[in-house]
Amino acid sequence: MPPSAPNDLWDRACRAASACPDLLSDLRKLYEDLDEELTTTPVACDRCGRCCNFRTFGHQLYMTPAEAALLFQRPSPHVDLARPGRCPYQQGTDCGARHRRTLGCRVFFCRAPETATAQIYEKYHLRIRQLHQRYCIPYAYVALDKLVQSISC
Ligand code: SF4
Ligand code: SF4
Repeated sequence: MPPSAPNDLWDRACRAASACPDLLSDLRKLYEDLDEELTTTPVACDRCGRCCNFRTFGHQLYMTPAEAALLFQRPSPHVDLARPGRCPYQQGTDCGARHRRTLGCRVFFCRAPETATAQIYEKYHLRIRQLHQRYCIPYAYVALDKLVQSISC
């Protein structure tokens, strides 16, 4: 499915996900499984934070409503500063939402070829889609920079 812009459907999906603690709990468990699996994958990250500046790094971060609901559980302190092209959760070089960050954040490793984590990404993205189905939350995949203005969902 091509990325879609935030709209009423996205807002409704995001609010429904935010109001579903069981979904968010299952998503946290899914992230734990993912992080565990990544410990046996030959990839490394220095946590320099360069890839969280999407404009200078030249990539985008996409997420589903469930992932957005968990990430946005606590508003970013930087949203009002409207730092274009940059993740509002970045604090210095660190992630200010490390335990809530998305699948895309977790599987990106700048020094590894995309193929190194492609299967892991597909596997966990499918599980996230299945969570949307299980909890009747509409699925969408939207870039973070399109969401910053509606980050309170
Ligand atoms: S993936 Fe690369 S650019 Fe991103 S934080 Fe890790 S080392 Fe830095
Ligand atoms: S949520 Fe954290 S890891 Fe993901 S892009 Fe933002 S600052 Fe980087």
